[in-house]
Amino acid sequence: MASNRKIMVLPGDGIGTEIMKANMRIIDWLAKYRSIDFDMQEGLVGGAAYDAHGTPLSDETLADSIASDAVLFGAVGGPEYDDLAFELKPERGLLALRKEMDLFANLRPAMVFPALVDASTLKPEVVSGLDIMILRELCGGSYFAEPRGIEDQPDGTRKGFDTNAYTTPEIERIGRVALDLARKRDGRLVSVEKANVMHSGVLWREVMTALHAAEGEGIEYSNMYADNCAMQLVRNPKQFDVIVTDNLFGDLLSDCAAMLTGSLGMLPSASLGAPDPETGLPKAMYEPVHGSAPDIAGQGIANPLAQFMSFAMMLRYSFNQGDEADLLENAVATALKTTRTGDIMTPGCTQTGTDGMTEAVLNAMDQLAR
Ligand code: NAD
Repeated sequence: MASNRKIMVLPGDGIGTEIMKANMRIIDWLAKYRSIDFDMQEGLVGGAAYDAHGTPLSDETLADSIASDAVLFGAVGGPEYDDLAFELKPERGLLALRKEMDLFANLRPAMVFPALVDASTLKPEVVSGLDIMILRELCGGSYFAEPRGIEDQPDGTRKGFDTNAYTTPEIERIGRVALDLARKRDGRLVSVEKANVMHSGVLWREVMTALHAAEGEGIEYSNMYADNCAMQLVRNPKQFDVIVTDNLFGDLLSDCAAMLTGSLGMLPSASLGAPDPETGLPKAMYEPVHGSAPDIAGQGIANPLAQFMSFAMMLRYSFNQGDEADLLENAVATALKTTRTGDIMTPGCTQTGTDGMTEAVLNAMDQLAR
């Protein structure tokens, strides 16, 4: 089925441009063999935007991103920008996009491909077949809520403070994303907080439990304290399907879950906003978890798989193209059996660069699509 959807492509800096070029070959394949056409627009972000316009995100690129159906992002940053003023640093472009697009739901899957079981620091039996999703609230809680600051005290000491506040609507909107995700996956949801010691946690638990009762028919639901969740993630991570949690706990738990997979070049992510009232689809940005890897940029050796899997998430969550997302993910798993970039190389496989890895995935798509 043909479809015209608008993607804003922001390759960024360093290996961002290399892995995005590789991603275009996957998009071309879908156009050629699945008649899936995207309306693509490319823009500058990060250091590249600073070099061209003196700002890491121009108003025009921001407006185009907001007007698009989804943003496909590479990576930003580089040592040449380290001395820029805070507001001009490449990473500010990324943060401004997240903030202006109100992307409050951060999806971080942790999947262990059979071929990469040995890359994890955990025992193979603990991680083999792992496929979990951490959903982190991204716009509220202790990283944003007021009051926050550092104050001088009358006794001459200083006080640093943040507020972990959540309102009912903030909890409900991330809760709805969580229910939707669980519905699209294995139908199991664990909500994580510290209701035993934090008032924000008490409200979080009350609101999530009520939301599940009202809107979560068919979804198996439970609550868990964040400290226990951290322990369970390394003890028996396969017990989870979807975990939903606040900004602070999500930051910690998603990094912990990500490292169960053992490889930075393999980790995709999605950041979603509220669903559009007309289309029902959210504003969204998809990006690999890794950065611009200046140490290997320009050498043609970057692993493009986190970028491809971010694009697979775009197919699934922005365009309801689950079959194509499955095809791409299965092709990645197939390619990994024989072919690796240097960062995930193991004896017995053929080592290749970005182009070779891309070709291996495209060949696997050819085979699997037959
Ligand atoms: P990084 O993720 O860029 O690199 C860490 C290490 O992992 C490096 O050795 C790198 O070569 C390797 N690596 C990362 N991605 C890889 C891939 N796809 N294939 C093979 N190897 C890969 O983190 P860093 O070195 O701390 O940061 C470099 C720059 O990226 C900094 O300017 C930082 O601020 C920025 N950064 C950007 C983002 C983003 O754009 N979302 C995220 C993290 C860091």
